[in-house]
Amino acid sequence: MGKYSILDKVKPEVRSINSYTLREYDYEIKINQNENPYDVPEQIKREILDFALERSWSRYPPFDPVELREELAAYTGWNPEGILAGNGSNEIIQCVLEIILYPGRKLILPSPTFTVYKLIGTVLGGTVQEVPLKSDLTFDCDAIEAEMADSGDVIILCSPNNPTGCMYPQDRLVRLLEQNPGTVVIVDEAYYEFSKETVAGLLGTYENLIVFRTFSKAFSLAGLRVGYGLMNPALAREVNKAKLPYNINFFSIAAAIKLLQNRDILSGKIDELIAEREALYTAMNTINGVTVYPSRSNFMIFETPYDPEIIFRELLKDGLLVRNVSSYPMLSKALRVSVSIPDDNRRFITSLVRIMGELETSE
Ligand code: PMP
Repeated sequence: MGKYSILDKVKPEVRSINSYTLREYDYEIKINQNENPYDVPEQIKREILDFALERSWSRYPPFDPVELREELAAYTGWNPEGILAGNGSNEIIQCVLEIILYPGRKLILPSPTFTVYKLIGTVLGGTVQEVPLKSDLTFDCDAIEAEMADSGDVIILCSPNNPTGCMYPQDRLVRLLEQNPGTVVIVDEAYYEFSKETVAGLLGTYENLIVFRTFSKAFSLAGLRVGYGLMNPALAREVNKAKLPYNINFFSIAAAIKLLQNRDILSGKIDELIAEREALYTAMNTINGVTVYPSRSNFMIFETPYDPEIIFRELLKDGLLVRNVSSYPMLSKALRVSVSIPDDNRRFITSLVRIMGELETSE
């Protein structure tokens, strides 16, 4: 009798990839996940807690979170019938790809970009076609247009792109939408509030456009997992079929609604983070040996001539946890740092100046 492994039943595509993981480290300053350093204000937290204490926990959340969709419609200017909320935007990304991809269908992705897209596309058995960024780490719009003209069922453009911070130019997006009416064009605007530039205004004109957003970044709500997608209502009805019932718990729905209603309170901190991003970029640019890339988001990548793992470890010695992104295509010398409060950013600069100085003299 032959020897069987139950793992032989797992799709070969799944066996061939690595899972999305994040190692834990001890740190004082967490600047590795593009989170908002400012927590939700205490008064708002208390109001959400009060609501949760009054509501029965034995009952399911609303089948359709209508109030959340309506608040999102007011925030985005899009039709509530074309809005789907998820347990993080990751869930909506998964649902959309689930209803489109199967073996033989093609997902086009600029590379490097947010790794979860490729992971989901591969698990679903789709063909993932990657189009490299240009050497200055901006989108290669010509190459993307050429790839789309060739074939493609769906494309995801992360704008601002994680981890490089570049934007997909809106005029080139319009061209892509016009030239490929049969391809689903997704723009992931997880970091929209830091770029203040959205393509949501095109949704009414192009029914092949989908926009993803999240509460995990500017809205300070990564711990409660809420994201959403904006799309043509007919498409939203189809995507809804792939969504599990009651995907967002009542607590997270209430928190998202409360934050949308109080968004003016958060906007000052967002503007501060944008100003800090520019200050951080300027300061890093003056450090000998550091190449920093401009970003429209709340993070940026930088390169040094040294092993990124050494830079990572040295920063960690000073209590700073950044992300070593050197395993990404094209980024073999790069690390990514999230913009934090002014004190944290200053500590990061001081530490990087020390490390670069020490490495230079030890050469
Ligand atoms: N899209 C991008 C580009 C991201 O960087 C992230 C999180 N890092 C997500 C989506 C996922 O966000 P969420 O927490 O809403 O699932």
